[in-house]
Amino acid sequence: MIRSICLIPIEFAETKLLDSLIFYLSHTFHLQVEVRQKKIIVEEAFSRSRRQYNSSILLSQLIDDPPDSGDCKILGLCDFDLFIPIFTYVFGEAQLDGIGAIVSTNRLRNEFYGGRKNSALLSERLAKEATHELGHTFGLTHCSHPGCAMNFSTYVEDIDEKSAIFCRECEAVVRQKIGYDKTAFH
Ligand SMILES: [Zn+2]
Ligand SMILES: [Zn+2]
Repeated sequence: MIRSICLIPIEFAETKLLDSLIFYLSHTFHLQVEVRQKKIIVEEAFSRSRRQYNSSILLSQLIDDPPDSGDCKILGLCDFDLFIPIFTYVFGEAQLDGIGAIVSTNRLRNEFYGGRKNSALLSERLAKEATHELGHTFGLTHCSHPGCAMNFSTYVEDIDEKSAIFCRECEAVVRQKIGYDKTAFH
């Protein structure tokens, strides 16, 4: 049974962003969301040639020896650029039906594309990507329902097209996995 979501910041100093993420995620998943500290050796994931960080290496560090004997989902947060070898970049990565996920804010910032800083938009995009990656840990695959948080996003514009919540079907899967008491929901 999943009782909570543990956010683990990796060189991630923005407290305001964390606060808004806790708000979004606790409403979407109806789980307790808490911030935990864990020593992550980021150098192990750094690729000199790509000047990016390998998300799979960070993910395996994040889920190593999980807190609460594994009854929480773990979400690592970083602001440096992530990749997996077959892609130029990724916004995040998750274990399908597993325990952990990671999200980067690097390409969620308008500044990355030469635009103006927009904190509200950034926290919205982060909420969407965090929900998406956590959705994978609950066994959800990509969804084609318009607006569902499980829509696949290649570009940041795709993220802006979708919402931070699940469609009915995806939500039903998450509810079942968490084991909500049906009567407790409206
Ligand atoms: Zn995905
Ligand atoms: Zn869906």
